[in-house]
Amino acid sequence: MEKIPKNHPRYTSLMTREKISQAMKNGIVHETGLIAHGRGEAFDYLLGEKTIPQADMAEEVAAAALLCAKNPVISVNGNVVSLVAEDCISLTESISAKLEVNLFHRTKKRIEKILKELSNYGAKNVYGQKADAKIPGLEHDRALCDMEGIFSADVVLVPLEDGDRCQALRNMGKTVVAIDLNPLSRTARTASITIVDNVTRAISNIERWVNELKNTDKNELKNLVEKWDNERNLSEMISFISKRLNSLFR
Ligand code: ATP
Ligand code: MG
Repeated sequence: MEKIPKNHPRYTSLMTREKISQAMKNGIVHETGLIAHGRGEAFDYLLGEKTIPQADMAEEVAAAALLCAKNPVISVNGNVVSLVAEDCISLTESISAKLEVNLFHRTKKRIEKILKELSNYGAKNVYGQKADAKIPGLEHDRALCDMEGIFSADVVLVPLEDGDRCQALRNMGKTVVAIDLNPLSRTARTASITIVDNVTRAISNIERWVNELKNTDKNELKNLVEKWDNERNLSEMISFISKRLNSLFR
């Protein structure tokens, strides 16, 4: 890895770029994953590269939804594994969720590399290789999933999702929790709970909320989820960004 001085003002962002570029060279991230990351970075810049209160609220409600789920699944792709494999594994352990690999650019080789990477980080039973089921209404390979995993899940956490699959999962009646830095994306607008935050901060923050809420009465948690107004939260996000931009040049 290239040496980046620790006191560089953009150290975290540069280290994240290094990680993702290395993962592309290793065949874990598809080259278009770098472009998706760039779009994410641009929105993170607008947010001030921190978890804003509206995102923290969404992370709390996401934790509540995961704690109430019967069969929660965390869906991961190359970008997610390259940036936050350990956080994802730790979250699956704290809520007894399953982990499933789902790729837009699916090849046997990439699936195997990602499974190996996850197992190096300690993941035990990762779904996604069997691909014995299909999400209805999707043409591309992202439709492929495991019957015991995403197909039968009631709550799916999708960090970095494509709008089509998010909609198709909603059409199956699932609760979809999306992590997407772009509050305007189709994913952000079709998910049940949208977390506008960087995966590098969001997954560990959901786990923090899981620990905080795990002894709370289930009815209270269900109530939190039912009361959630995703559209309102997204519009607050957009208004946060516009106010921040206006204030920077006053
Ligand atoms: P959609 O398919 O929902 O309309 P899109 O086609 O614009 O969105 P995709 O390439 O499908 O975008 O997915 C990438 C999304 O992931 C982008 O919206 C981007 O903002 C977001 N993203 C990229 N990196 C991160 C990250 N580290 N954390 C959170 N979100 C990210
Ligand atoms: Mg897309």
